[in-house]
Amino acid sequence: MLKRASAASLLFSALLAGQEQSAPMPQGLDPTLWQRAQKLHHECVVVDTHTDTTGRILDEGFDMGPLSKDGHMDLPRIRQGGLDVAFYSIYVASRFYGDEQALFHKAAGDDDWPRPQDPGSANGSARRALAMIDGLVRTADRYPAQMAVCDSVASVRATLEKGKHAACMGIEGGHAIEGQLALLRMFHLLGVRYMTLTHTNHNEYADSCADSVPRWGGLNRLGQKVVMEMNRLGMMVDVSHVSDRTFYDALAATRAPVICSHSSLRAICEHPRNVTDDMLRAIAKNGGVVMINYNCGFIDAEYGKRSSQVSQTKRIQEREARRRFPEGSEDLAQALKKLDERFPAPERPTMAALMQHILRAIEIAGPDHVGLGSDFDGVPCVPQGIDDVTMLPRITYELLAAGKSEETVRKVLGQNLLRVFERVEQVARDLAGEPAWQNDPKTDSDTLAR
Ligand SMILES: [Zn+2]
Repeated sequence: MLKRASAASLLFSALLAGQEQSAPMPQGLDPTLWQRAQKLHHECVVVDTHTDTTGRILDEGFDMGPLSKDGHMDLPRIRQGGLDVAFYSIYVASRFYGDEQALFHKAAGDDDWPRPQDPGSANGSARRALAMIDGLVRTADRYPAQMAVCDSVASVRATLEKGKHAACMGIEGGHAIEGQLALLRMFHLLGVRYMTLTHTNHNEYADSCADSVPRWGGLNRLGQKVVMEMNRLGMMVDVSHVSDRTFYDALAATRAPVICSHSSLRAICEHPRNVTDDMLRAIAKNGGVVMINYNCGFIDAEYGKRSSQVSQTKRIQEREARRRFPEGSEDLAQALKKLDERFPAPERPTMAALMQHILRAIEIAGPDHVGLGSDFDGVPCVPQGIDDVTMLPRITYELLAAGKSEETVRKVLGQNLLRVFERVEQVARDLAGEPAWQNDPKTDSDTLAR
């Protein structure tokens, strides 16, 4: 079982008290409850299963060490917000999945994720994942007193005991393994401890929720083996981003609890990225956990609709401006500035909208099956009141304000995920000695008998 108010969290709190100020109380809150929430929050092991800071490290040369003015997190803000454990997304965008364009119904270039023109020429998925891992490892190497890369519950605990931030890794986009079970094993060897079976693209073995025309109708035979091999290795199976059929196929195939690393609720916000109430119940039955995503577009349907209308119209006019004026010209700069003024981003949802998802998930799946998967640094909009990682104690406050027990708060903030992680490790130990699953070109593409 997990320690509570352990030496680690006390040390973390002490560091916090000694080095950083807690976030100021937001207006309109009850000061007594805020104080209680702050104390409880910093005593808990707080886990976030999805942050995209790795993308910033790799693509923007972002340095997590100093306090930064933009983005959602860096080491000083992580400490201030009391975020003990984060899963850094080893995110591989679908544009790196290059060799099967012909199998897609969409022509390349008509969505946000252009695929290479020459089939077979540019599958850089595994390479991209390796570069992402390297970005995180480099960062941890640079700040050894503040953080460490962790690959087990034991290493997470040891890292927290030393008062450091525990950085775990999860692959986002199952095409990162390029259809090879051997690559899955190599990523496990490097410390990756979950994999989201798809991103916005179908891949060699699983269908995504972002493409309405199915390729396999869920998992195919290889997909089933990927899930079972993840069980054997001790990697959490992540069913965020997958199609509904893939979700249920993965649950049928797994011998360990699964996670949704960053998904919200479809009953509140109708979006295929979100889970239905039935899925919540299925995850509860499986012993897994749904980690609620803070992305405005996934928690507030109205916001999603307004922002996509605005961005669609704006994009058309932007394209027109780029056609009329040369790149880098003053005319173009002026035209783009005017567009920004004419199409301001819609007002962000409030904290209450996010809490609706968390509270309903607790109600339906139960307090043992809900957690937090922010999508910080991966989404353009998070609700007012949780503008960055420093405001995490606000969730603790709102849970207490909603009448949730301290025990429930502890579970949602981190214990649930660590319980699942531990269980997945135990299943791997139970399966020790089983042969590794192997690719079989003759049957990998077979559809599953249902
Ligand atoms: Zn995602």
